[in-house]
Amino acid sequence: MAALKSLRAPDIRLAKRLVVKIGSALLVDRATGLRRDWLTALAQDVAEAKLRGTDVVLVSSGSIALGRKVLGLPDGALTLEQSQAAAAVGQIRLARAYEEVLEAHGIKTGQVLVTLEDTEDRRRYLNSRATMETLLGLGVVPIVNENDTVATDEIRFGDNDRLAAQIAVTVGADQLILLSDVDGFYSANPKEDSSAIRFDLVEKITPQIEEMAGDPISAMSKGGMKTKLLAAKTAVAGGCAMAIMEGSVLRPLTALAMGANRTWFVAKGDPQAARKRWINAMKPRGELVLDAGAVHAMTAGKSLLPAGVTQVSGTFGRGDPVAILSPEGVILGKGLVRYTAAEAKQIAGHRSSEIEAILGYPGRAALVHRDDMVI
Ligand code: GLU
Repeated sequence: MAALKSLRAPDIRLAKRLVVKIGSALLVDRATGLRRDWLTALAQDVAEAKLRGTDVVLVSSGSIALGRKVLGLPDGALTLEQSQAAAAVGQIRLARAYEEVLEAHGIKTGQVLVTLEDTEDRRRYLNSRATMETLLGLGVVPIVNENDTVATDEIRFGDNDRLAAQIAVTVGADQLILLSDVDGFYSANPKEDSSAIRFDLVEKITPQIEEMAGDPISAMSKGGMKTKLLAAKTAVAGGCAMAIMEGSVLRPLTALAMGANRTWFVAKGDPQAARKRWINAMKPRGELVLDAGAVHAMTAGKSLLPAGVTQVSGTFGRGDPVAILSPEGVILGKGLVRYTAAEAKQIAGHRSSEIEAILGYPGRAALVHRDDMVI
């Protein structure tokens, strides 16, 4: 049984698209500031993953911890305004540090600051997805953090564990690694209960597993086991396996490949299948009727262009789900549309090259992109 089980554990060396979450406590030392040796070693791990052909996204905390050190703010809780100010000062240094260590390997970086709304609002979600895809396509390693200087308490993730899971699902990653100050998921808090055991692999997040997640156990990191488990739920439902491991060792990703302690949460299917499930579960806000040529192109896996649409109905905004119908009115599938209903009505039946002349601004060539479509 044990051998069978370990077969289910993902291998980081086989990841196609990897998201790594880096906690503040790993990156920033209260007394001495940024841990440059650790970061330099992490960059080596990232460079190796890139050489293997893995796309890498880093979700890094540390802006507040770094900023408070730079500003010499006192120990203890900060006000929201103080942490936002600290984040502004810390983030710029954080991004620069990543740029420097990765540039040494010829790797380009980009800074991506997101808010909760960017993932909750479908239109903004599709936009950030497209941007991330473009960055990854260009070989860039995006360095992601929450936009702490603008995100207020009510509208923030607050912890980068869940943010990282959301990013992993947004980019269709197949593996997410949370580098943390604990070496995995335990049956109870190991600091309080000596009988606590660490899971190697969690195949399913059952109510019993949920009960085992305690409260935050580290002073500097925001997310405790509860937020990590929430992150795991988001990731695995999105077809992304997630690992929790202790990250303070130099080159933690190599350590993971070599069998370091960790807990893997097994993914439900793959990211593409999960995305299709997500689109499929949505209620259409409108309908697009296609001509025969478009039906043919669509079933051959192409995006839906405005030229192949003969009729548009319903009231929908950009990013909303719409039903896709055959000329006879049979539902063929569903997709997220890239134009509003008013725009779609104007450009239906026209070539993509005419979009700018009709709408007065350049838009995307496809009305529904094939990645956003379920047939
Ligand atoms: N976004 C915060 C920062 O960069 C950290 C949130 C977290 O530690 O989870 O300082």
